[in-house]
Amino acid sequence: MVVSLGIVDPNSNETWLIEATPDFPKQMEILTGNNFDKLKGIFLTHAHIGHYTGLIHLGREVMDTKSVPVYSMPKMTKYLKSNGPWSQLVKLENIKIKQMKNNRTVKLNDRLSVTPFIVPHRDEYSETVGYKIDGPNLSLIYIPDIDKWEKWDENILDIVKKNDYALLDGSFFNNAELPHRDMSEIPHPFLIESMTKFESLSTNDKTKIHFIHLNHTNPALIDNSNETIQLKTNGFQVASLKQVFLLSD
Ligand SMILES: [Zn+2]
Ligand SMILES: [Zn+2]
Repeated sequence: MVVSLGIVDPNSNETWLIEATPDFPKQMEILTGNNFDKLKGIFLTHAHIGHYTGLIHLGREVMDTKSVPVYSMPKMTKYLKSNGPWSQLVKLENIKIKQMKNNRTVKLNDRLSVTPFIVPHRDEYSETVGYKIDGPNLSLIYIPDIDKWEKWDENILDIVKKNDYALLDGSFFNNAELPHRDMSEIPHPFLIESMTKFESLSTNDKTKIHFIHLNHTNPALIDNSNETIQLKTNGFQVASLKQVFLLSD
């Protein structure tokens, strides 16, 4: 399935979802057992098809939801409000847009908060954000799409050190997946580039890194491929379906 991340509070039974992917119905079933009352909000990252088109399921023809909070950045909000069919979701109040600001924390409840931060990416229709999720005493970084690490004015190594989990863009392993294109022109950090970037981290910091958003061509999706073994040998992991990251110890 296309990558998304659920946030679950076992104390209150509330859930939130980061991304509304084309697999939204299946992901909602996994997350809430189709009890949509548990869904307290959806956080969007950007306007590329794998990340927001699942919103279509909230509309009149399908779930016909009532005012589901959708957290969205300013350009993303403008895009949704001014283009059908998304504008209809707003007009009919299937969704209620909550506009976020860069680096401004959204408090979900006493135990959980979410903070968006802008990252460089191909921004045709919207800006792109990653998220920091703070739990009772642990935190997680979620960055599904980003241009090369060097194009970001933040230091990803420091971010990994300061947080407990880092779910990072692992779209492509290397340019062998894209034979006719120049590696420097692909707007993602290749896994071979990320492994070099993160080489200096301690063993403990490396285990925080779980790669996500793998393209179907990525050999690291295959158990026991040479590339998967190479990743693991270097201390990194690929996130798996239904993997749970605890935010309290
Ligand atoms: Zn994208
Ligand atoms: Zn993407």
